[in-house]
Amino acid sequence: MAKPQKIWLSPPHMGDNEQKYIQQAFEDNWIAPVGPSIIAFEKDLELYLGNRVHVAALNSGTAALHLGLIMLGIQPGDEVFCQSFTFSASANPILYAGAIPVFIDSEPESWSMCPDCLETALKTKAQKGKLPKAIIVVHLYGMPCKIKDIMYIAGKYGVPVLEDSAEALGSRYGGEYCGTFGDIGILSFNGNKIITTSGGGALITKRKEFKERAVHLATQAKKDKPYYEHDEIGYNYRMSNIAAAIGRGQMEVLDTYIAKRRKNHAAYADFFSATQQISVLEEYSLDCYSNFWLTTITVNPSEDSIVPENIRVKLSSENIESRPLWKPMHLQPVFKDAEYVGGDVAEKLFNTGLCLPSGSGLTDTEKERIFSTLREFLF
Ligand SMILES: *Cc1c(COP(=O)(O)O)cnc(C)c1O
Repeated sequence: MAKPQKIWLSPPHMGDNEQKYIQQAFEDNWIAPVGPSIIAFEKDLELYLGNRVHVAALNSGTAALHLGLIMLGIQPGDEVFCQSFTFSASANPILYAGAIPVFIDSEPESWSMCPDCLETALKTKAQKGKLPKAIIVVHLYGMPCKIKDIMYIAGKYGVPVLEDSAEALGSRYGGEYCGTFGDIGILSFNGNKIITTSGGGALITKRKEFKERAVHLATQAKKDKPYYEHDEIGYNYRMSNIAAAIGRGQMEVLDTYIAKRRKNHAAYADFFSATQQISVLEEYSLDCYSNFWLTTITVNPSEDSIVPENIRVKLSSENIESRPLWKPMHLQPVFKDAEYVGGDVAEKLFNTGLCLPSGSGLTDTEKERIFSTLREFLF
């Protein structure tokens, strides 16, 4: 029997107008990392995020994090704090900059950086007279982290915050958009994110001169001269006009897609409410509004031998993709020598959790296929 069609975790989902904007770029021959769609996409994002911010469109979220660290003045040998429970792209740019990562544990409500662990780590570093030069905090799976507490603690010690909002475009805390709290914020438009430009990212800042500097650094740091003159090292990090054209179309459907992902989440929450064995990550306070980029669950310890890996394998046998939660950075072979502050919150989540198919294009029929597969297995 032919396998049923694959249900992906979070596949690209095009709206109606992306091709129109691409067509325009072809007609005008703006097939380059420069052009009107880049400017228009930046404007769309600035308007969406509340118009108090400036946005620089870049070719990945990772590039945005790297430029963010450079703009915060990170030098080789500096320490940078980073949430341990995240995708490696949050941490790798610390190494690109020659700096030293110190990983911080999560707390169980948001799954993101634990404010108490952060405070402990900052206190210890302050006593040694060596504060970190930046703190990278992440809104994981679209769930807003405890950003106000983190900004407050970071502010007490005068350490800037780089807010990795790659998974949280459209999520809000206390009514304000994720990505706009930190000294610098970043977004990703990779293929699996809530909207995509095929590959892309953005840097968010409240300071106009920061945006100008980000664009300058992202375009090889060329001075305004007829010949190319450089007084610092630049990067080739600017977004392509074609990618930005896709982004303009995606911005038109963003809020509809968030509504669809939130509906997916509500359907999963309803489904799992029938069992004590599974917990679904929920908004933990009235201040939280999650885009529910991915619906994530944890399996509660029980006599039954249900472990997330069994659920993953079962779903996979029906051609349904699911994935374990991020493996914490302090448990990664590549970061085995890095300093870590915290307990076992992130590690426990990694051992018990799973991400479920959450695309904005997920149909009711597909959801029913997922549920009937799980029903067989769980009940
Ligand atoms: C996707 C992602 C990134 C990296 O974005 P890219 O555009 O893929 O470079 C960074 N941090 C987190 C938390 C992500 O999920």
